[in-house]
Amino acid sequence: MMIKGAVEFSHHCLSKVIQPGDTVVDATAGNGHDTLFLAKLVGKSGRVYGFDIQEEAIKNTEKRLADDGENEQVTLICRSHHELKNVIPGDSDIKAAVFNLGYLPKGDKKIVTRPETTIEALQSLQERLHTDGLIVLVVYPGHPEGKIEADALLDYAKQLDQKHWQVLKYEIMNQMNNPPFLIAIERNQGARNKAG
Ligand code: SAM
Repeated sequence: MMIKGAVEFSHHCLSKVIQPGDTVVDATAGNGHDTLFLAKLVGKSGRVYGFDIQEEAIKNTEKRLADDGENEQVTLICRSHHELKNVIPGDSDIKAAVFNLGYLPKGDKKIVTRPETTIEALQSLQERLHTDGLIVLVVYPGHPEGKIEADALLDYAKQLDQKHWQVLKYEIMNQMNNPPFLIAIERNQGARNKAG
């Protein structure tokens, strides 16, 4: 199919931007699918910082990476992504980041991402994003907290200054039951200002 789902499209976008040796962030490691994808793109000379608030998710991600021999270039952190500014070295130039929001598949559905911490993490990433760097968010409006988070993120993304940021919403229009959609935020060439 030419038209991809939101997760597949997020990988397509990331693969266009990330080069071997880059520093990137998986803000929601979960079961490690996105972390593994990033680890392969940056290779052994790059660095992936993967965050999750659940031990179970960190363990699942660790195992997935080890099974594929891709753990060397990954630092996993069992903390909320909004703390990333205290964790990632200050001089790191971040090329790309991915958020795959909501709850851990097959995990506790009460533990979900929240708009306040998601937006705080997003702002920290924007401040340190490389020129032409990219942040992608896969957003799930199909559960009640997810709808609140989706609305907050759309409001946030829409007000970003077009002088510095190019913002895309990508969604399949005819799928039932509020399918996930993607928000992509790209730093304009040469713009290296604070978020906003
Ligand atoms: N990217 C994952 C993958 O490829 O398997 C799927 C991520 S899953 C949809 C969402 C994850 O976000 C859950 O594992 C959950 O624990 C995590 N999460 C929730 N709040 C978080 C926070 N504040 N910081 C980091 N991770 C968080």
